[in-house]
Amino acid sequence: MAKIDKIETTLYRLPLPEKIEAASSGVLTDIDMVMVRVWDSDGAQGCGYNPLFSGQGSALVEIINNVCAEIVLQEDPSRIEWIWHKMWRRLHYAGRGAPVSFAIAAVDTALWDLKANSLNLPLWRLLGGFNPEVKAYAGNIDLNFPVDKLLAGADRSLNDGHRSIKMRLGKPSLKEDLSRVEAMRNHIGSDVELMADANEAWRPDQALRALRALREFDLVWVEEPIQPDNFVAYAHLRNNGGVPLSAGENLHTLAEFAALISAGGIDFPEPDLATCGGITPWMKIGHLADAHGLPVTSHGLHDIHVHLLAASPNNAYLEVHGFGMNPYIEHPLAVKNGIATAPDRPGHGMAFNWSLLEKFRLN
Ligand SMILES: [Mg+2]
Repeated sequence: MAKIDKIETTLYRLPLPEKIEAASSGVLTDIDMVMVRVWDSDGAQGCGYNPLFSGQGSALVEIINNVCAEIVLQEDPSRIEWIWHKMWRRLHYAGRGAPVSFAIAAVDTALWDLKANSLNLPLWRLLGGFNPEVKAYAGNIDLNFPVDKLLAGADRSLNDGHRSIKMRLGKPSLKEDLSRVEAMRNHIGSDVELMADANEAWRPDQALRALRALREFDLVWVEEPIQPDNFVAYAHLRNNGGVPLSAGENLHTLAEFAALISAGGIDFPEPDLATCGGITPWMKIGHLADAHGLPVTSHGLHDIHVHLLAASPNNAYLEVHGFGMNPYIEHPLAVKNGIATAPDRPGHGMAFNWSLLEKFRLN
């Protein structure tokens, strides 16, 4: 039986092509990217990564190097659940959420990639093999853009093959948000699907007013109207706002998703494997949603989430995200007529340009 005999953690700081802003994060100019690589005694390898805001990556590197590495080494790589739970139990006292879930996620992703590579299977087939074609949308981050640039971004997304587009909300006045949505809807017409993401900009009372005012624009959803863990308020907004809700990037455990879904607070659960503890809990969240008659969508990391959604019968949308790794990988994800296709290369199929990444290495 193979054993994991090497694990390596690297931290990169990658510049973004331009300054972008969302309501909760503020303006972003670069991101940290934590990369975990694992090798087993049969020569198989896997890698997982986690992009997060600049300055926060080193905390993950410490957790992985000081705790996860010794748990993973010498383990049987086919026992991912076993390894995941060992990491969780060891780390949960100071964790039970971020950044522990972020650190475990990078390791868990590497383990799934290794397992799929060693079986010579693409991840989406290993995880369930539902349908490689997944509906996608452009997750544009554009709160700081003036209206003409906002609309130009939508045009670029449409030219790139998208048929569904997300824009940001959370300007100082609701009036300004509404005028931006109106401009977008008028620009793209009624046939292009439109989502909007408030990134926790509002209190519940403000969110209720905003949702009711946004009804006329036929949004697929409004994402994170309020802080992520006020599940009672989510249910209130869902019952009274008149616009479907999505959320999930700021929930860090399977239990938090169970609580939000049980509260009746969500239409589109949106787990992010990088923030919920990895592929292992992501698939459980997807199945949990399915059991409640809900779809599952994704946040960020589209090159890997395309596999998870392609494995899930209740998939709704893949977010094609602004923190994409396109400059650093050999096969960037393509979207055609609003559809992304999970690749049939083994593992997650991301071939990184290691020498280019080396220029941005911090540790
Ligand atoms: Mg979001």
